Amino acid sequence: MRIAGQVSLDDIPNICPLLSRAVNPQYGEKGTRVVDVAGVRFGGERAVVIGGPCAVESHAQTVGLAHAVKRAGADMLRGGAYKPRTSPHDFQGSGLEGLCILSIARGETGLPIVTEVMDPRMVGEVARVADMLQVGSRNMHNYSLLAEVGRAGKPILLKRGMSASLCEWLGAAEYIAKQGNLNIVLCERGIRGFPSGEYSRYVLDLNVIPAAQMLTFLPIVVDPSHATGVSAMVEPASRAALEMGSHGLLIEVADFSYGEPKCDGLQAIDAATLARIVAFAGARGRPVQEHAQVT
Ligand code: PEP
Ligand code: MN
Repeated sequence: MRIAGQVSLDDIPNICPLLSRAVNPQYGEKGTRVVDVAGVRFGGERAVVIGGPCAVESHAQTVGLAHAVKRAGADMLRGGAYKPRTSPHDFQGSGLEGLCILSIARGETGLPIVTEVMDPRMVGEVARVADMLQVGSRNMHNYSLLAEVGRAGKPILLKRGMSASLCEWLGAAEYIAKQGNLNIVLCERGIRGFPSGEYSRYVLDLNVIPAAQMLTFLPIVVDPSHATGVSAMVEPASRAALEMGSHGLLIEVADFSYGEPKCDGLQAIDAATLARIVAFAGARGRPVQEHAQVT
């Protein structure tokens, strides 16, 4: 039976002619497009580790954490100035002031910044500060935002929608690519499944890493923080993600001496744990033949 609107992975070459491995033979069976973010190479010779707070809350908190993330050996700083919250009455991020703080953190540490943009009208403003624009899980289906970030001239971190199929996720990436921007890094952040919320926040779908790598040449990273929602699970989940071939990790870090985080404190790790994850990511390395790089 044929059903209207039904697609399968066999349709990826048609849905994603710009990003499909099958349609772009220059990448071969295993080649990865290297996405360079201010000198940090996603899909390059080693896994990239991004650390930082869930939200930019204050100058002291974010700049302090940026220094800690740098000392831990991570490659980039994360932190949301604009936060998509379940309740509109909750803290929504510190907005333009948050962007200023991120820019100071970058100036002091030299760490490139990835931060979320939620509104197509704010893309220019956020892109002035960010080295990489994050499209969050809730906005993966926001096609006008995808087109707008595609025109911004910055690399994009595209999170998987929490209920998105791989077809839908790659289709969303194709919206960005259609604007002429192929500098896209996919980010698996956990999906909704029957046990989500019982012992972890979402279900970390590690199987999608090799599956995505078969279908596209884009690099893929994992966010073990939102996937698990439990700080004690973040380190083992990070190791598992790297073993499954993830090109990097996006991890929330907190220091409670700046006060309890306004969001996601329960899943944040400390800088010492981040340093262990960085060491594991670096020591582990990845076989170069299997991940031949194409720039
Ligand atoms: C985040 O990384 O700050 C975030 C909100 O994650 P997600 O969009 O995956 O929920
Ligand atoms: Mn968070």
